[in-house]
Amino acid sequence: MSRVAYVNGRYLPHGGAMVHIEDRGYQFSDGVYEVCEVRGGRLVDERRHVARLERSLTELRIRLPMSIAALGVVLRETIARNRVRDGIVYLQVTRGVARRDHAFPSSDVVPAIVVTARSLDIAGNERTAEEGIAAITVPENRWDRVDIKAVALLPNVLAKQAARERGAKEAWFVDRDGFVTEGSSTNAWIVVGNTVVTRPADRGILRGITRTVLVDAIAAEGLTLDERPFTVAEALAALEAFSTAASLLVMPIVRIDDQPIGNGAPGLVASALRRHFHRFAEFS
Ligand code: PMP
Repeated sequence: MSRVAYVNGRYLPHGGAMVHIEDRGYQFSDGVYEVCEVRGGRLVDERRHVARLERSLTELRIRLPMSIAALGVVLRETIARNRVRDGIVYLQVTRGVARRDHAFPSSDVVPAIVVTARSLDIAGNERTAEEGIAAITVPENRWDRVDIKAVALLPNVLAKQAARERGAKEAWFVDRDGFVTEGSSTNAWIVVGNTVVTRPADRGILRGITRTVLVDAIAAEGLTLDERPFTVAEALAALEAFSTAASLLVMPIVRIDDQPIGNGAPGLVASALRRHFHRFAEFS
């Protein structure tokens, strides 16, 4: 089936969908994005994703070039035109097209928006989650505004590639004090006793929507949540470790830097949280 992309007001064949060479996203990574899960043809946690998008845009002083209601229509139309039942919808907004100059262009430059959608192999993801994934650790080398979901992801790209080259699927960033911040495209968690530990959502991490929903799931499972930084040594000694993201949900991490976590298999807590996650998510 041919894929379709929404680009600045038009639905175009995906293969030929283009933005201008002077789009500021292309030249300066001057833009933000969101990735929202699609389940059974419905958006998962749209409200929270849109709220985070608005926050990212506000922080960078980029204007959303359409109403929230219109954006909702475009997201659904893109999902429908790509016949996605289970997958993801991606959207990005950049500061628009203007002659190259670092400072903002004049206010009449309209921000550019692109929306794509694609199916995910849900059964394949489940099989991956049943086995768990390996992670490596890499030094934190990002700017101090990673709370903004900016399209500037070069450190994340390099970290993910390093993971791949070492036979792993995720890289956890570690700050100068030895504390894990988050994964290259996920939030990072460990389980210590009956307590689930994750770094507070300050400026050191992106406040994952999956993370936010999981906070409710953790309470419902009768577990304790401790929002505090944890070290790599603590993670290696933990009962369980896992990563979260809208495209992965709760993904058990069974090895970190080639050392097994717990008994080297997905833990009960991560597996239960994964199983029950959608009970706590909003569908629309
Ligand atoms: N941290 C980073 C750096 C990410 O890229 C992502 C995924 N976009 C997350 C955390 C998880 O966020 P979410 O649960 O909203 O997908």
